[in-house]
Amino acid sequence: MRVVMPGDRIGSSEEYIKGEGVYEENGELFAAVAGNLVIEDRVASVRSFSPIPEIVKGDVILGRVVDVRNSLALVEVASKRGEKRPLTNKGIGILHISNVDEKYVKNINEAVSYLDIIKARVIGDNLRLSTKENEMGVLKALCGVCRSEMVREGDMLKCPECGRTEKRKISTDYGKGEW
Ligand SMILES: [Zn+2]
Repeated sequence: MRVVMPGDRIGSSEEYIKGEGVYEENGELFAAVAGNLVIEDRVASVRSFSPIPEIVKGDVILGRVVDVRNSLALVEVASKRGEKRPLTNKGIGILHISNVDEKYVKNINEAVSYLDIIKARVIGDNLRLSTKENEMGVLKALCGVCRSEMVREGDMLKCPECGRTEKRKISTDYGKGEW
């Protein structure tokens, strides 16, 4: 039994059939959750060993972007709206490029970036996330050059220190310090 983390490559979609806790990208299968990799009759599944029972479909979560790939971002979930207690398990949510915005997003790097703090809606199993709603999206972002906190300027973010502008899917609550 192999232990896998979200984003770990399992194999190609020709070798295996996608099961629970697995996602496919460009013909490759990756673990969507942390857990034990189980392969039965060519079906590759990941049995999560740390489910987050407190979080269900429809919840709104706050998290930090920990990885950005071709068509998705991995988000470390920090808290759930309406819940004062810290979460017992910090799960990794998946934001697929098709769930970022109502508008077509060509490049996920123009919507979220490494270490951004985002607000997202849980839309399915394995912490599948969406930021399509206006209030969802990036709440706080750091400049890619000087790491200063960016400020909103129209539909872009601007660095007050070096003047760099960056594109994001910005939440209507950006920079308010509340969510
Ligand atoms: Zn800067």
